[in-house]
Amino acid sequence: MDDAGSADGGEGGQADTAAITDTETATGTDTDTDTDTDTDADATTNSQPNCDFCQISTGAEPAAILYEDDQTVAFLDRRPAVRGHTVIIPRTHEEEVLLMDETETAAVFDTVHTVATALESTLETDGFSVFHTSGPLVGTVDHAHVHLVPRFEDDSVGLSLARRELESADAEAIVAAVRDKL
Ligand SMILES: [Zn+2]
Repeated sequence: MDDAGSADGGEGGQADTAAITDTETATGTDTDTDTDTDTDADATTNSQPNCDFCQISTGAEPAAILYEDDQTVAFLDRRPAVRGHTVIIPRTHEEEVLLMDETETAAVFDTVHTVATALESTLETDGFSVFHTSGPLVGTVDHAHVHLVPRFEDDSVGLSLARRELESADAEAIVAAVRDKL
């Protein structure tokens, strides 16, 4: 958990992935479009002017975009744990995956599948780790995102979880409580 958290927390400034695009045209020219008038935020995506991922979604921030469609964007993590480490986001600004609706959830994981399939054949991956973290304990970007981390036989990705035996009494209590909510 710690490792997953720190991997996620480390992505902080992901927005400036691939400073490939021409910064000259980006600097100082669009002052009239993104001044403090938040009112022109896209109502359908709830786009937030201070959110790096919203800016990537709208194209205001450059990113190494692998795939995008009406609902999602997949781009290379600026601080990859491994080659091909990708972040998939919904275009709509939601603070975490659990706040996404069914359509967005389906679209995001559809894109995870699409990009993973392409990465598998192009980078000859040996597998994937897919994860999402949220909540105040893990410092992370406040825009729902899923990490798609290609795995290679000799990679040094450490997503360790301290495991213990599931206790039957605890299992029964959790199952009863959760099933009661569903
Ligand atoms: Zn956002």
